[in-house]
Parts: sequence; structure tokens; C-alpha cells
Amino acid sequence: MAGNLSFEDLKSLAAEGSIDTVLVCLVDMQGRLMGKRFHVQNFLDSAHKETHCCDYLLATDLEMATPDGYTSSSWITGYGDYVMQPDLDTLRLAAWLPGTALVLCDILDHHTHKHVPHSPRAMLQKQIERLKKYGLTAKMATELEFFLFEQGFDQLRKANYQNLEPISGYNEDYHILQTTKEEKILRPLRNHLFASGIPVENTKGEAETGQEELNIRYSDALECADHHTIAKNATKEVAWQHGHAASFLAKWNPKRLGSATHIHLSLWNDEKPVFYDPKGNHGMSKLMGHYLAGLIKYASDYTWFLAPYVNSYKRFMKGSFAPTKTAWSIDNRTASFRLCGSDTKAIRVECRIGGADLNPYLAEAALMAAGLKGLEDQLELPPPTTGDLYQDENVGELPSTLRASTETLRNSRMLRDAMGDAVIDHYVRCAEWEQEEFDKVVTDWEIKRGFERA
Ligand code: ADP
Repeated sequence: MAGNLSFEDLKSLAAEGSIDTVLVCLVDMQGRLMGKRFHVQNFLDSAHKETHCCDYLLATDLEMATPDGYTSSSWITGYGDYVMQPDLDTLRLAAWLPGTALVLCDILDHHTHKHVPHSPRAMLQKQIERLKKYGLTAKMATELEFFLFEQGFDQLRKANYQNLEPISGYNEDYHILQTTKEEKILRPLRNHLFASGIPVENTKGEAETGQEELNIRYSDALECADHHTIAKNATKEVAWQHGHAASFLAKWNPKRLGSATHIHLSLWNDEKPVFYDPKGNHGMSKLMGHYLAGLIKYASDYTWFLAPYVNSYKRFMKGSFAPTKTAWSIDNRTASFRLCGSDTKAIRVECRIGGADLNPYLAEAALMAAGLKGLEDQLELPPPTTGDLYQDENVGELPSTLRASTETLRNSRMLRDAMGDAVIDHYVRCAEWEQEEFDKVVTDWEIKRGFERA
């Protein structure tokens, strides 16, 4: 389901006074919605064609800093403008906000009007086009895990994030009783997203105190990333409307499990699932074998796109349901890649590497680049692994720190060929900056440990 408003629908809703505001948004490197709130009349008159934003929006960090080292945007180039071009296919209600619609934009160079290559949406569109040359489309679903807290964002920030209290008192995995208590947030979230053209499947309690999961029906890769980004923003906003905070940090408490974004993926040709072959092992086609072999072989190259912060790597712990090894398995949750729906037309791969903090456009683009390389090189799929992979010495390790994944990203010939050197250099700089910022900090842990005793 694409955006659920046509331009004509918006005109009618504006005329009858039901919509007065249009959020015109781009997706930044961190996967956040950034943009402007237009009066609907101005959007209908002109802003639906284009509007503008400062080019630092694709060269900043979570704090909106202006890091050095980016070729595309800097003090030297004067931080000029990008064109934000609304993709009217994404126009939809933002039903959780009164009188509001929302549209996502592509980002164009102000002078040449060409797509900015390091824009996350453009990066995914590029890989989709590459797949299309083989007559293939990718369908994906992202599972959004997050924590809900008793307190709201502002209250927690003012208290310096001390005494974070999850909304429930016990592990609520699949719990109906506990999640009933959370319906004041999750029911409006499901219904508002659905009314906004986002095909919500369900929400469920997850395997920690206060942890939730939101599932959205699989769709074409770009739509899936659009759905994820809007749904994540809406989750925070609906929680905020009820005086609570929703956090997508990969790991907020060392003693608790982290939050993931598991990504389900399959390839299709003309609406036929080409991962399925009833004669293949477990119902897998040869094509699926090559694609999965590519995902496994290059997992370390693209880990950064699935785990972009220092904190992301705190999730990868033994016995935590987050993988540490580059291997596949049949329905085994300790592997990076799990075969789901074996021997059925719904056969697919679940990639379990990503954290809740990933940018879905970058993650999907990277997975597609790796899978495609597997196809092009007809890579052979190793046998599935079994047992507790945390203990398995015979399979590859994922990078375990941001520093390590920055180097595997920097040195990835595969990603440079698929995405372009300038794009990879841009994201390597983003990764380096995150580490540099962290390296400047003296943590509470260091003070507690060493203040008196070092
Ligand atoms: P689980 O029981 O593990 O939650 P589900 O059957 O609910 O598994 O599926 C998990 C996700 O996989 C859902 O979001 C669903 O939309 C998605 N999915 C189902 N079939 C496919 C497919 N062929 N390709 C990609 N994603 C799919």
C-alpha cells in the first residue's frame, strides 16, 4: 500500500478543512524525518513541486553538529541548499497528528537537479534499479523493537536519564495481560498507522521488561523503508502524546536485552517468489542459495550499515538473541541469518544483525548489494549451521566494535563497486566522527572504577 492520499484527495480534504498542515520530510543519515511543516495551501500551490533545506542535513550527527571531513558539505563549500522534491506517491495522512498529512522527499543537487548519491533514499533506489536489471524486485519487512518507559522524554532528559523505568515490571514476551495495560499507546499507534496507509500486522510484547515489537506487512523495499521510518517517528510521537517515552536505542541497560530490527527479505519476479523451488533443499531455489551466500560472505563489510553507533555493538552479546557470527541456520535464533517459511512459497531470509537504531534505507541497500554480488558471482551456499553458534569457532565473526566495522566498511571493495567510492567515503566519515565524539567522553564507568582505586 503506497501513501494513501492522492493530490486531488489532499485538495478536497483541505477545502473541507480536515487537513491544514503538510509535513514535508527527508530522511537523514540517522534515519530520522527532517523537514518543514507547510500550510496545506502553500503545499498545494507550490511546495508540492519542491522546497529547500541546508545540505548539512546529510552531513550531521544526532546532535546536529557540523563535523569536518565531508566533501559534499562543509564550511568551505558554505553549507548551501539541497532541493527537497516531494515524492507524491508517499503522500498520506499522518493520522496520529490532528489535521496533518505527510510526504517524503527525494533530495536533489540545487544546481544540477540530480539525485544526491549519499541520500539514504537514493542509495536504496540505486540498488533497486540494479536488481531490476535482472528482472527482480526485493520484498522486505522490518520488525521494529523498542522500549516504552513510565516517564516522558522531557522528564527523562531533565533528570539526565537517571532511573529509567520501563513501562512494565516483567518480561512481556507475547504477554496479553501486560500488553493490555499498554493499549492506551499501542492501540492508537496501530490504528493511526493503518489509517495512514501503513499496513500494520500486529504489535506484541517482547522478551524484556517494557519491550515491544511492531510488525508491518512486507512490501517492496523502498515502501518498507518508508513505512519503517514513518512508523518509528509515529511511535515516539504517540508515546509522547501519552506522557511516555519510546526508545529505539540498541542497548539502554547492560543487564537487559537490546532492541533489534530483524529484516525479512525475499526476491520476486513478476509477483512470483523466486526464492522458492519445491525441489530444492528446504524449498530453496538456486538463486536463493547464491543470494544468501552473498549476504553471509559480505556481512562484515556492511555491518556498519546495520549497527552505526558505539552503542549498537553493546547488543551483540553471547546468549542475547543478537548474533555474533556470520552464518545461516534453519530456524535457529543464534545465527545472523535464519531461514523462515522453509518448503513454502513464503520462504525468506531473516537477517538478525541490525539494531533498532539502524537506518532502514541504508540497511536494505547494503543487504541488496551483498545479495546481488552473491548472485552475480554464483556464490555457493555453505551448509546450514546448527547448535549454539556463540560457541562455534568454525564460522566468521561479525565486527564487534564501531572501530572494527568502520574499517571493514572502508575496505569493502564490494560496497565501493555497488554504491560508489564517494558514498562509502561519506559514510566512513560519519562512522569515524561518531567514534571521535565518543573518544572525547569520560564515562561514569571509568570514574566509578578508577576514581579512588586507580
Ligand atoms: P514471526 O512469526 O516470526 O513473527 P511472521 O510470519 O509474522 O513471522 O513474519 C515476520 C515478517 O515477515 C512479517 O512482517 C511479514 O510481513 C514478513 N514476511 C512474510 N512473508 C515474507 C516474504 N515472502 N518476504 C519478506 N517478508 C515476508
